[in-house]
Amino acid sequence: MVDYDVIVAGAGVSGATAAAMAGKLGKRVLLIDRNTAQEPGKKTVWGWVCGDAVAKSHIIYVQKNLGNTFSDQVLGLKVDGVIALSPDLGYKLPFDGEGYSLERPLFGKALFDEAIKNGAEFKGKFSIEGPIIENNVVKGVFGKNEKGEEEKIRGKITIDALGIASLLRRKLPENQYIDKEIDYEDLELTGRFIYKTEEPFDDHKYYDKRNALIHLNQQMAPGGYGWVFPKTDGRVNVGLGVQHRSLEIRNKKFGATDNLKSLIEKYIKWNPIFKKYHLDNSSKNGEGYWSVSVRRQMEGMVYPGYIGAGDSMASANPLSAGGIGPALIGGILAGKAASTAVESSDVSLEGLWDYNVDYVKQYGKSMAGMEVFRIFLQSMNNQDIDYGMKSFITYEEAVEITYGRIPELSLTSKVAKLVRGVGALRTFKDLVWTTQKMKELNGIYANYPNSPKEFPQFKKTVVSMIDGAKARMPSGPV
Ligand SMILES: Cc1cc2nc3c(=O)[nH]c(=O)nc-3n(C[C@H](O)[C@H](O)[C@H](O)COP(=O)(O)OP(=O)(O)OC[C@H]3O[C@@H](n4cnc5c(N)ncnc54)[C@H](O)[C@@H]3O)c2cc1C
Repeated sequence: MVDYDVIVAGAGVSGATAAAMAGKLGKRVLLIDRNTAQEPGKKTVWGWVCGDAVAKSHIIYVQKNLGNTFSDQVLGLKVDGVIALSPDLGYKLPFDGEGYSLERPLFGKALFDEAIKNGAEFKGKFSIEGPIIENNVVKGVFGKNEKGEEEKIRGKITIDALGIASLLRRKLPENQYIDKEIDYEDLELTGRFIYKTEEPFDDHKYYDKRNALIHLNQQMAPGGYGWVFPKTDGRVNVGLGVQHRSLEIRNKKFGATDNLKSLIEKYIKWNPIFKKYHLDNSSKNGEGYWSVSVRRQMEGMVYPGYIGAGDSMASANPLSAGGIGPALIGGILAGKAASTAVESSDVSLEGLWDYNVDYVKQYGKSMAGMEVFRIFLQSMNNQDIDYGMKSFITYEEAVEITYGRIPELSLTSKVAKLVRGVGALRTFKDLVWTTQKMKELNGIYANYPNSPKEFPQFKKTVVSMIDGAKARMPSGPV
């Protein structure tokens, strides 16, 4: 017996959005989470651990599809964009355009309320343990209800929105479409705090109330970056992400024993804005640690009876680690794809395949290229990043790269003659190689397979190109 048309596992950003979309399309939807209805979208016991920054274009996309509006209170502080600063703070690179520094718990609640308004039922305090699988088709989920009893819930199709550590993805049968595990090197270990600052501050290298700032610095945040994102009422979302391998290399070189926590403490000490501040724990969300993936989204995101959306599919942007936008897009498209599959009674791989195609078209097409650029960035030390940001690419070219578009490096011939030093020459050559690979990968994704038949060759090519980038440009923060 089937209990529901669509089961949505996880009521975070992607799950609540998918449930709202499938509900709006008239399907019988069950949204499941281990949280209660009072705390939707809370990722872990630490709270809604996130930098809270999202591009305006993603919010518009959701509103257009769901027909809802988010209130100003939910959207929080409007910002002009995200600005990345070079390690010596001498060079600024803007990306992502206008956006919001969200009130994350309220945003999660707004999406959740939209799902309920559109008819989704909610089952809280339910811990999902894995997928029900029959004849290699996902038929629902099993787990423990709030009384601690094992329960099976069946649906025609299951959307996996359980986030990065998804137990559904990891317990799928062996398959070539979706990787069960995310490579440790492709994870950023992150921590963040919400602080209230008590002194007005106006040095845009450290804090900018109109922009979300990112500090690239391989000493302070090896293989990642630190961030200072402004919020309303003098609050700041401050955090830091590191790549485990880069941290190990850096510690070894300097005989240091730093870990994520000590690096965050040093980063906060370094930034003069935090001379006078205190933790803002008003929504029990002041301090938290979690991981975010910075690889391309899974090459395929469907399996018979199953669609993945958001962090469960590693969909965060490999360069910025921004995952809210892709989780919203994945949620909308997964809700639509599930609804279509129910209507056509076809939950086969072939039947669900268009979800992959649509997602790649809407968002995923340049993510593999961005991953190569991330690998390139992680291979450079601070001096190389400073020199490279200033000397190798024009401002416009750099902006193009952050959008996943590949510029013809106009300075290439001029710069090649000017490059000074072995490190700079290597960086320059790697940059030229990287932009070439980005172009190739964008071309490969522009021809994303229209059916599962052509998928194995596609995946093989993509994986071998990414492996090639990792082999050529290993992490080298110092
Ligand atoms: C420190 C940090 C900073 C970040 N900053 C930004 C940023 O500034 N901008 C940005 O765009 N992105 C940012 N991201 C990424 C962004 O937060 C995620 O991409 C986004 O939350 C993904 O949403 P999701 O719905 O896919 O997954 P999640 O938000 O993780 O939601 C998963 C849901 O599933 C539920 N769940 C999980 N397992 C189970 C289970 N077994 N049983 C029942 N329920 C379960 C959870 O309770 C949760 O509600 C950041 C991430 C981190 C860690």
